Amino acid sequence: MTTRTEQTDDNSSNDSPSKRPRPELSPLYNPEVLPNELKNVDFTQRITWGKYAPYTEEVLPLKALDAPATPKHRLEMHIHNLSNRARAGTIHLQRPSSRPIPTPMFMPVGTKGCLKGVTIDELMHCLDCPIILGNTYHLAIQPGTELIREQGQLRKFQGNGNHNLLTDSGGFQMVSLSKLSNISEEGVTFENPFAKGETMLLKPEDSIRHQTNIGADIIMALDDVVSSVIADHDRFREATYRTLRWYDRCLQAKAEGDPDHQQNLFPIVQGGLDTQLGGLREQCLAGFRNRDQDVAGFAIGGLAGGESKDDFWRVVNQCCKALPDDRPRYLMGVGYPLDLVVCTALGVDMYDCVYPTRTARFGVALINDGTCKLKAQACATDFRVIQENCKCQACQLGITRSRLHFMYKTGNPVAVQLLTQHNLTYMMQLVGDMRNAILENRYPTYARAFVKNMFAEEAVPGWVVDALNEAGISLQE
Ligand SMILES: [Zn+2]
Repeated sequence: MTTRTEQTDDNSSNDSPSKRPRPELSPLYNPEVLPNELKNVDFTQRITWGKYAPYTEEVLPLKALDAPATPKHRLEMHIHNLSNRARAGTIHLQRPSSRPIPTPMFMPVGTKGCLKGVTIDELMHCLDCPIILGNTYHLAIQPGTELIREQGQLRKFQGNGNHNLLTDSGGFQMVSLSKLSNISEEGVTFENPFAKGETMLLKPEDSIRHQTNIGADIIMALDDVVSSVIADHDRFREATYRTLRWYDRCLQAKAEGDPDHQQNLFPIVQGGLDTQLGGLREQCLAGFRNRDQDVAGFAIGGLAGGESKDDFWRVVNQCCKALPDDRPRYLMGVGYPLDLVVCTALGVDMYDCVYPTRTARFGVALINDGTCKLKAQACATDFRVIQENCKCQACQLGITRSRLHFMYKTGNPVAVQLLTQHNLTYMMQLVGDMRNAILENRYPTYARAFVKNMFAEEAVPGWVVDALNEAGISLQE
């Protein structure tokens, strides 16, 4: 049997290095400006942690679905099965009696700590949603994270639930919501939306302090976010390296603020849309591989910001192929049902987005073949429920689209409440269906059926075909 090393040696003896074609590296690869820690990385190869599967035929070691979390300094991810590259797993948090999180999972966003129109109890028990996301920026501005801490942290502040929480770093909103924001090595300076003329500085240490006050199970490192549609290469390069440096500062701040290791800090992979060998995504991945031992899970950031779908899936694909199999992969800000089906095929485990709840406020229902606009005149005489076989309150009570149409028309707030519940029920059903399909080794069949249903009357977009092909799923079968 020939080992890989022997093959390499054979090749090199027959073929002098100068004759071998040099793999084409990204134009953004410049050894002169690489941080010292990355200077010895071989960027002619793809960055990878080394995989169990599915890039070989080997399957990950199975662990029991209900395997208890052993006391550890970070969360545990158990992968139960792979169907092509799609993963079904369970995340066990280290907080005593915390509820395990099945994956793939969608996390609804409770911007100011709660979702509009849904109580925590409804979320946990009626909608069976194990984890929600809170926005650090909004909570820091109002009511302030010190006040939340005084009342026993956010979980208690929300009303004694046993739900799991994830908070973002706050950086994204500072950049996206503020007219005036300025990023320096120290942190992000932005205009205080509640005190005209005043500026505030958010440093990586501040972000962690706020997130420690809030007390979420999973917290995010402050990253240097650049809009994915700008074309400033130097700015992307600066942001990529700064994201690595800021992660180190976040980790240090967390060590001081969370000595009992109750919180899990996720770094965010940045690097724009540059997926080429030696490109910025590869450089960022290499940087986090160097910091691997402390990382509880990884987020994929800098997407869902208006980039082309082709760029979008290629970045997701690259990150999933590189990142280690034994930790969660969280794709930030992604929540269209089609995106979930495609990105799960590529190997993503967690998602969050305001879309299902925000769109409910505009009267848009998520249904199996796309969306239904309840405010549209056509719904005035549509006597069907929103979606057959849906377990939400409105569909179970037999409330028709027509009834909801008139509730929206007359400004009845219960309509928004019912539709928010419906859309979240749809999302939880979607991730549950994906998980079952993966556990039963039939994710390709599931994804094909989903796409065919959604595009029954129009051509399937090229990016969907390409991304699924990359995941080994052909739509032709
Ligand atoms: Zn429903």
